[in-house]
Amino acid sequence: MRKKIIAANWKMHKNRSEAQDYVNAFLPLWHEIKAADTEVIICPPFTILHTLQTALQGSTVMTGAQDMYWEKHGAFTGEISAPMLTDCGCSHVIVGHSERRHLLGETDDHINLKIKAALAGSLIPILCVGETLEERQNDQAFQVVQEQLDHALFEVDLATRNLIVAYEPVWAIGTGVNAGSEDAQDMIAFIRGQLFRQFNQELADITPILYGGSVKAANMREFIVKKDIDGALVGSASLDPGEFAEIARAVKNV
Ligand code: PEP
Repeated sequence: MRKKIIAANWKMHKNRSEAQDYVNAFLPLWHEIKAADTEVIICPPFTILHTLQTALQGSTVMTGAQDMYWEKHGAFTGEISAPMLTDCGCSHVIVGHSERRHLLGETDDHINLKIKAALAGSLIPILCVGETLEERQNDQAFQVVQEQLDHALFEVDLATRNLIVAYEPVWAIGTGVNAGSEDAQDMIAFIRGQLFRQFNQELADITPILYGGSVKAANMREFIVKKDIDGALVGSASLDPGEFAEIARAVKNV
């Protein structure tokens, strides 16, 4: 059975004291929910990773970064490497988020290098894929996602089986307009099929695949009841500890 995962993407939000306040509010709720079958990962800005990691010590909640660079060290001003992230206690890293692809010029080649470096550095990549509205309207959604997966996972060694994929249609991110749960299920089943095609049945069966795009407590259940959807990557709604805890509660025991 695949594990269920709720991952928070805080984007460029919160400072150290806000992160501490968040943990103080979230942990009692999370302990009360007792969702033993669900993993929670919080991905804050780099500047508060250490604060968050320290505040979460002793809990089951894990931390991840929102991006990384593929070299380990060197003259790469402004970049952060996998060893630096593991040194901060990170277990996961988001790779290929659409905001980085579309606003910051990240290419498929960069994403492929980052996936390889994350795995080599013992980080679990959360690989984001998804189509724009125009691509969906032109019936290109499946082709676009297939190409993103082919590039991102080209010559990637997944012997460790440590991969999470997040299907995040670009038009659903931060818009308040979520994908229909049937459409999300169809795409996520397709992604599972692509993992089989690129790797093998075992990897397709065990890889958690999340839906992301305007998820909140009120719609989480629609997604998690679907056969191939294993959880969510949550942006805006994860900034509120009460709302994020309710999302975890919606996932429990499904
Ligand atoms: C995201 O940033 O990955 C995301 C899904 O954002 P939101 O939940 O705000 O749509």
